[in-house]
Amino acid sequence: MAESRIASRVAVGLGLLAAAAFAAWALGAYAGARWGWTAFAMLLLVSLLLHVRQLLMLGRWLERGESVDGRLSGVWDELHAVLHRSRRQSAQREAELADQVGRWRAAARALPDGVVILDGERIAWCNDTACMHFGIDPAQDAGRPVTQLVRMPEFSAYLEAGDYAKPISLRQPDQPERTLSVQVVAYGEGQSLVLSRDVTRFEKLETMRREFVANVSHELRTPLTVVSGFLETLGDEEDPEARRRYLGLMGEQSNRMLRLVEDLLTLSSLESSPPPPMEDAIDMRALLDRLGAEARALSGGRHRIEVEAGADASLLGSEKELSSAFGNLVSNAVRYTPAGGAVRLYWQPTEEGAAFAVEDTGIGIEPEHIPRLTERFYRVDRGRSRETGGTGLGLAIAKHALSRHGAQLEVSSQPGKGTRFSARFSGPRLRPGLSRI
Ligand code: ADP
Repeated sequence: MAESRIASRVAVGLGLLAAAAFAAWALGAYAGARWGWTAFAMLLLVSLLLHVRQLLMLGRWLERGESVDGRLSGVWDELHAVLHRSRRQSAQREAELADQVGRWRAAARALPDGVVILDGERIAWCNDTACMHFGIDPAQDAGRPVTQLVRMPEFSAYLEAGDYAKPISLRQPDQPERTLSVQVVAYGEGQSLVLSRDVTRFEKLETMRREFVANVSHELRTPLTVVSGFLETLGDEEDPEARRRYLGLMGEQSNRMLRLVEDLLTLSSLESSPPPPMEDAIDMRALLDRLGAEARALSGGRHRIEVEAGADASLLGSEKELSSAFGNLVSNAVRYTPAGGAVRLYWQPTEEGAAFAVEDTGIGIEPEHIPRLTERFYRVDRGRSRETGGTGLGLAIAKHALSRHGAQLEVSSQPGKGTRFSARFSGPRLRPGLSRI
């Protein structure tokens, strides 16, 4: 379309030139050939000057954007229109492309994983997560070799080897607690993406899982070995007294396994079920009385057991879970307090609500063990725990059950003097005054 309009303008120009040549020829025939040629040359010169003027105007418009409105004519006007159109179209395409690039970058920026675009080994771009993972400053570090910023020999070796089929695990020297899984994906010519993911939590979970399986296997193997040993000897044993003794020992070991499996099932149900509904109000005074009676039975008269229910409040939740949590604290207090000591159970008012506490005058716990007490199978003294029938899961169960009721387990202890475990309750699970109902 534009081409045909330019061609028609050229045709008009050529027509005018032909008319001028004819007029000059007519003048030459009338007034002599010299006058004819002179007039023709003049006409050509004027037309040439006009074209040069318009060419200069168009050039200035292209170079500096000077306005040419209404000052161009003929083929130059047409050329100006065509160029103007194509300029507008390419500006529009550029804006669309910039918009698309912007959207891709925004999407890559929002990714929870780190993304670094490498040109060869140089950083071309990175998202915020990658900047955080590798300590890159996008304003200063663009264009720098990635190995200058990610200063880890494993990473440099991985880049050099060029085998990116599997990710590698990295730990930055300045952030040793964080583990990153890093993988390179090559694309285009000499370009690649470095993808990074924070796998710290996953690694911790994996370690916990491995330790848990090893612990459970170990805990079960010991009593099983004892039982199977006795079973073998029992076959050849004819003395009824010895047989009774063996059976008694086997019974002890199977009880130990049973307690362990029951504790594991309790823990698993606490972890996998939703928090207990807030329908049933637990009568804390009655619960404390029951716990006191259990403590007396376990102590067998070796300790002084005191119960003090001073708070006039009850709890909304699962009585089974709370009595298992409190029961574990009470049984620990009895088991880790030498004969002659005292165990006190409290249900006390606090500023923000009420607290359950168990205090003993027992062996106490060294401060370095306190942060790890609620880990599964963590024991300060493995032998003593086993001797007294512990599974190593009591405090883990207590912690879970309490947190499901909005409370946290707090421990304070003085080695050789005694320990206090407490759980503070507040908020919607605490009902003031209901225990009197
Ligand atoms: P266990 O079945 O071994 O008692 P728990 O999870 O109940 O397991 O307790 C973990 C460890 O915490 C115990 O092995 C013990 O070393 C220590 N512990 C718990 N309660 C007390 C306490 N009242 N006094 C001293 N040590 C305690």
